[in-house]
Amino acid sequence: MNFEKFIRDIPDFPKPGIIFKDITPLLADPEAFKGVIDEMAEKVKDIEFDAILVPEARGFLFGSALAYKLGKKLVPVRKPGKLPYEVVEVSYALEYGEAKIQMHKDALEKGEKVLIVDDVLATGGTIKAIQTLVEKLEAEVSGIICLIELEFLNPREKLDNVRVESILKY
Ligand code: AMP
Repeated sequence: MNFEKFIRDIPDFPKPGIIFKDITPLLADPEAFKGVIDEMAEKVKDIEFDAILVPEARGFLFGSALAYKLGKKLVPVRKPGKLPYEVVEVSYALEYGEAKIQMHKDALEKGEKVLIVDDVLATGGTIKAIQTLVEKLEAEVSGIICLIELEFLNPREKLDNVRVESILKY
């Protein structure tokens, strides 16, 4: 299935110079959304992992559907002030701005293997930061899957030693 026609480019959002990849047309098409989740499942079938980690907010959409399909544990990674229990935290740079993310300190067991799922892989900064969070809990990232990879930003340079999969490349 060609998913490209379900991605809408929004120029200068949220800042001048950024072309925002809007995935809402894809979410609005049940067959396309199901197609993406099925293709994600296919692409990660030879990766060993116990948990799926999802950054808010659009990572939640794809990662939770994939966790349901594959019967895996699901762990939310959130902005500060959202998680109610004790957290581990990391700061990082975004394609547009600076951010902090957190995860519950008991979200992963020592030695657990995780797959990170998100909508767009841009600079790779978010996923690199999640990798740092995972390592703080002595767990390990065994793979990353995103719907869209912005290859021109070279995210894989930041993410060497980890398997990276994506469905659409720009
Ligand atoms: P990065 O840390 O640079 O890889 O940015 C990844 C995060 O920012 C992802 O969670 C995306 O949802 C969001 N993001 C970055 N750039 C874009 C873009 N051009 N269009 C849509 N979302 C983006």
